[in-house]
Amino acid sequence: MVVTKICIIVCSECETVQTLSPGYLEEFSRRLQQEFGFIPDLDNITIGGVCSICRPPG
Ligand SMILES: [Zn+2]
Repeated sequence: MVVTKICIIVCSECETVQTLSPGYLEEFSRRLQQEFGFIPDLDNITIGGVCSICRPPG
């Protein structure tokens, strides 16, 4: 079964939404399994934060 994993990053300042490529999740999942033996449920993840435009200088 192929599961389409969607991971988006959302800026808390300007609410810009960007979609991460599947490679990010695959790498993250692989490391969790290697380091913790943990199989993560990575479907439909939203990561909040501040984008490059809104982040404070420095
Ligand atoms: Zn922003």
